[in-house]
Amino acid sequence: MNSCIWNGKRIDAFEIFQNEKLETDIRKAGSSGELKCLDSGCTSTIGYKHGPKKSPHFFHHFDSKCEYVLFEKSDRPGIRDVRDALYEHFKTNGYNVIREHNMPIGGKFCHLLFLINGKSIVLQIADKQTSAKNRENLLKACEVNGYELCWIVIGNPDEPQSERHNYHIHRNLFNNSKNNDLIIINEAADRVLQTRIIKDSRFGITEQSFALTVPLERLVFRDGELSIDGFDDRFDKWYKNKITEQERQKREEDARQKYISEHYTQKAQQHKASYQNREFYYRHIALSPIQAKHITIILQTMTQPLLLK
Ligand SMILES: [Zn+2]
Repeated sequence: MNSCIWNGKRIDAFEIFQNEKLETDIRKAGSSGELKCLDSGCTSTIGYKHGPKKSPHFFHHFDSKCEYVLFEKSDRPGIRDVRDALYEHFKTNGYNVIREHNMPIGGKFCHLLFLINGKSIVLQIADKQTSAKNRENLLKACEVNGYELCWIVIGNPDEPQSERHNYHIHRNLFNNSKNNDLIIINEAADRVLQTRIIKDSRFGITEQSFALTVPLERLVFRDGELSIDGFDDRFDKWYKNKITEQERQKREEDARQKYISEHYTQKAQQHKASYQNREFYYRHIALSPIQAKHITIILQTMTQPLLLK
């Protein structure tokens, strides 16, 4: 675990690591039972550990079923590494961010909590193992506490993301995040991909998404939304061009159809006129082409003997 309470204040293991005097004090406080768990209902005292193999962390002295222990059980190394990298990135860029925050109501833990313009925003890291139940439980806990919730998913930022043929969490974010955005971060936590689906039936499924991959440094919160810096401008430009091009193609197609329709109407009228002329001839003069032929033969048969005489 990353944090505990000492003298009523929250302490972060990585901060202690950077200060030798503080580390000594914390080790002594751990031995004398002064360190407490972030979960106020937890009865175990807390110790501090740091050595050549393990990074600085706190641990429970006794078995506990508190929310922090539950959180740690569901935590995975890949998620922990990404969480630390995101925390460092946002902290360095001046964000008010808390790592491993336990919510006041219910005590459930979340990965990162941001305080931005009076809003509390949870940033949770998901991977392919994140189930619908995990997602719903966290969403409920956030709603009860008045927190907003956004997600970042561990994956490959160089792989195009589609709504179909993807894990549950990906599909869910494409449909339920504020701007139909999905943000992917790689395991090394240095590159991010943002993909937005436009859901515009004028375009085919493969044409309905815009994506941008950039270094982690460009991941920001803009108007309370997690996003790549400049993504909205690039997206707007792309969408506008797409609509302009689509309208141009439609105008061209309409003109082509109009030409075809007019051209063939003219031809059809000419054919109709010539047909009507023929029909008039056959109906009023020769009755039918076969009858006309018969009449010619009869006339020839009748006139031939006269001619011979
Ligand atoms: Zn505890």
